[in-house]
Amino acid sequence: MAVSPLPTRSPSTTLSTSNTAFRLKGVAARSPGNAPSPQILQNADRELTEQLNDNVRQRYMKDKKLGEGTYAIVYLGHLRTEPSSLVAIKKIKVNAEYKDGLSMDAIREVKYLQELSHPNIIALHDVFSSKDQNLNLVLEYLPLGDLEMLIKDGNIHYGAADVKAWMGMLARGVWFCHENFILHRDIKPNNLLIATDGEVKLADFGLARSFADPYLNMTHQVITRWYRPPELLYGARQYSGAVDIWSMGIVFAELLLRVPFVAGNSDLDQITKICEAFGTPTEENWPGVTKLPTYIPADKGHIVPVQGRDFFLRQFPTAGPVGADLLMSMCTLNPSKRSTACQVLQHRWWFTEPRPTNKEDLPRKAGGSQKMGSDLTRKGGELDDSPFKDTARQLDFNAM
Ligand code: AMP
Repeated sequence: MAVSPLPTRSPSTTLSTSNTAFRLKGVAARSPGNAPSPQILQNADRELTEQLNDNVRQRYMKDKKLGEGTYAIVYLGHLRTEPSSLVAIKKIKVNAEYKDGLSMDAIREVKYLQELSHPNIIALHDVFSSKDQNLNLVLEYLPLGDLEMLIKDGNIHYGAADVKAWMGMLARGVWFCHENFILHRDIKPNNLLIATDGEVKLADFGLARSFADPYLNMTHQVITRWYRPPELLYGARQYSGAVDIWSMGIVFAELLLRVPFVAGNSDLDQITKICEAFGTPTEENWPGVTKLPTYIPADKGHIVPVQGRDFFLRQFPTAGPVGADLLMSMCTLNPSKRSTACQVLQHRWWFTEPRPTNKEDLPRKAGGSQKMGSDLTRKGGELDDSPFKDTARQLDFNAM
């Protein structure tokens, strides 16, 4: 097991600064023999926080809008002192219906991205609030779109070696999350963004959560339906990293087929399609499945046997026999029999021909390479020498 890196959090991403505030302002405000009043301390605290926030905010300039999601608008931005150093600034929409005006998605995204620092996970450089009280996340700029764009673009040709490279990057990112007891819970091609140098990065941690306590109940309403594993469709409240591995397997299948593999139009349709494709879950192949809250027994005449290697090889010939074996291990119905991220990385598929394509040589969206490349001085995943070296968490990824 790899040692978890200890991110050195910069003062700029430290939202609470009360200790420092006490030291700086408490002394000045103290009258001889009297302790500073709580009000004075509170004001001092607020002043220092605002000052630190202003310092961070002034480091960046916001440029054009890049896109919009459910809870945020994403802008291109750059460092004021170094205009060629580009960033993505994700401005979280304030919504009165949420606690403190912020959605849980935003809070999760900040919380987990601050903890994770890895070449295959989008980097969070800074966090600041703007004058209108909106929260802004300064993220690594990933200009080459996402894997969904590549899958859908009929003009882009890719092969088994490219799929192996993309899957390798995804597997390493997921492995790192799980090593740090974090579940992503929304793995799908659209959340796999691509850096200038071709590196794929896991993004959008709005549904992430920690899973250190295996007996804690968690919501089953996570993961975009097509990528949702059977245990969540059956309403399981206690689950593990296996939920992300299922999604990874479905992404693998989609990369190979270039269409979503099990695309249900309702939760019921989704579980039906999974049963038709992979087999019907029963007490024999998945002990305990019938006890799950929303388990639906299959009609006696409709039990599909669990599919073996031959099925996977027939459906996904381009994966080859070893690749089909890996895919089968990720799409195992019983979550306790599914491969872990570590087992995925140890699979012999990575070492069989074809070797994964070098990230720089991977197919990319039209016009993306030269144009974007010449815009940038910094490649994705190279934080140490970047202008963000003082603010970004240090990379410490030597394992695997
Ligand atoms: P999101 O709210 O994360 O789904 O982002 C909305 C859109 O903004 C995405 O579809 C991308 O087009 C764009 N975007 C998000 N994050 C980045 C990033 N780090 N770099 C470049 N574009 C981004």
